[in-house]
Amino acid sequence: MQPRSAEERRAELVGLYREAQACARCPLSKTRTNVVFGSGNADADLMFVGEAPGMHEDQQALPFVGRAGQLLTKLLEEIGLARDQVFIANVLQSRPPGNRDPQPDEIDACKPFLHRKIELIEPRVVCTLGNFSTKLLTRSQRGITSVHGRPQVHELGARLLRVYPLFHPAAALRSTKTLDELRADFARLPALLEEPPPVPVGAVAPVTAAVAAQQAEPAPPTLFD
Ligand code: URA
Repeated sequence: MQPRSAEERRAELVGLYREAQACARCPLSKTRTNVVFGSGNADADLMFVGEAPGMHEDQQALPFVGRAGQLLTKLLEEIGLARDQVFIANVLQSRPPGNRDPQPDEIDACKPFLHRKIELIEPRVVCTLGNFSTKLLTRSQRGITSVHGRPQVHELGARLLRVYPLFHPAAALRSTKTLDELRADFARLPALLEEPPPVPVGAVAPVTAAVAAQQAEPAPPTLFD
C-alpha cells in the first residue's frame, strides 16, 4: 500500500464520518439519536476502543462523555495525556436500547468502520476497553480478566501494531480492585508508546528491555493471525 500523508488520511476519515452518519446497516440506526463516530486526534499514536455509546454519548454524538468517560479522562491525565491527543471510538457507533450488550450482527455490521478508522489513524497502540473490543480486535475468545495489561501484536488496518487490553472504565467504577488494576495497566502505557514498531515474524528487531520482558512471556495463541 502507498504511504499516505496525515492530511490524506484525515480527509478520508472525514469521508468515513459522513458515510457513518447515513449508515443503516443494522436496526440500531432506527433507535439511535446520533451516530457516535469517535473523537480526538486523527493522527494519534494511541487509540481507545470501547463497547458502544450510552445515553449521554447518544445525545451528544461523542464517545465516553458519561461517568465512565470522566474516569477515562482522569486516567489519561494521570499519565500526562489529554483526550485530544488520543482517538476514542467504540465497537458500535449506535446506542443499543437500554444499554444492552452489542449483538453479533450489530458488531459485524459496524466492524468495517472500526477497521477503517484504525487503518486511517495509524495508531501505534490500540487499547481495547472491556470484553467486546478485546475479543473483536484480538480475534480471540479470551476474556479481559485473563488478558488485561499484556500487549499483543496484531495486524490491523494492514499494519502490525500493539493491542493493549484494559478493563472497561465502567467496570472500574463498580470495583476498587478493578480500578487499581486499570490504573496500574495505564501506568505502563507511556513506556509501551515508546517501543519501536513491531516487526513481522522472521525480521530482526532491536531488543529493548521492555520487548525482552515481553518476549520472555509465552506468546498468546493469537499473537499473529
Ligand atoms: N461506554 C462505552 O463503551 N463507550 C462509550 O462511549 C461510553 C460508555
